[in-house]
Amino acid sequence: MKRWPAIFVSHGSPTLPLERSAAVDFLHGLGGSLGRPDAILVVSAHWDTARPAVSGAAKPETIYDFYGFPPGLYRLLYPAPGAPRLAERVAGLLQERGLQTDIDPARGLDHGAWTPLFHMYPTADIPVTQCSIQWREGPAHHVRLGEALRPLRDEGVLIFASGGATHNLHELSHQRGNPVPQPWTVEFNEWLADALSARRRDDLVDYRRRAPHAVRNHPTDEHLIPLFVALGAGDPGGATQRLHSSIQSGVISMDAYRFD
Ligand code: ZN
Repeated sequence: MKRWPAIFVSHGSPTLPLERSAAVDFLHGLGGSLGRPDAILVVSAHWDTARPAVSGAAKPETIYDFYGFPPGLYRLLYPAPGAPRLAERVAGLLQERGLQTDIDPARGLDHGAWTPLFHMYPTADIPVTQCSIQWREGPAHHVRLGEALRPLRDEGVLIFASGGATHNLHELSHQRGNPVPQPWTVEFNEWLADALSARRRDDLVDYRRRAPHAVRNHPTDEHLIPLFVALGAGDPGGATQRLHSSIQSGVISMDAYRFD
């Protein structure tokens, strides 16, 4: 059986399903180029819990966890089946590493999960479940989480981390109408790409001190945290590929990475 990569994508605005952009073109192609996994495990910036949780729902509902967007967005559905057996397998793998994990029987798919999948796998027929983040635990915890999940890559599972390579909504509101990438966003984004391609793990887990403009790009870092799960799920010494790079509205990186 093939070994699946772990993927990180930046999901940008909740309007992603309605957008036409370079990032959307990329997501359209990504599903086809990866092929069809047996199941998808999403680690989204938008599900944060005190300790790890996985969704055991057989039919996860589409969650509209955003406010004030166009009405059409709230009518879209992503009716993929759930993956209760995968949820149990995830909980087992995490518990083997001493990470007490809850199975949430009701949790649906938040927009960090369903909006990129809407473009990648539009037929919505691949079973999907989510594993939560614990963002206050920081990057190193999430690398360990990814390491614990690594065996899934040999079990037909696509580990799909969804967040944002940069994410400062306050700065975004200042930028309205200015599409020119800001130097402090570009500088951080390129540092991240270099550190990931060389797998400079020590620099990455300490990025808030070592990367340029780290805190300005991530005032809180729940949107970067899923990236560390994908990094941990990659093979030690494995290759990193920067699959996509674009910056929206001057400050929102839409970069995506593949970890083999
Ligand atoms: Zn988000």
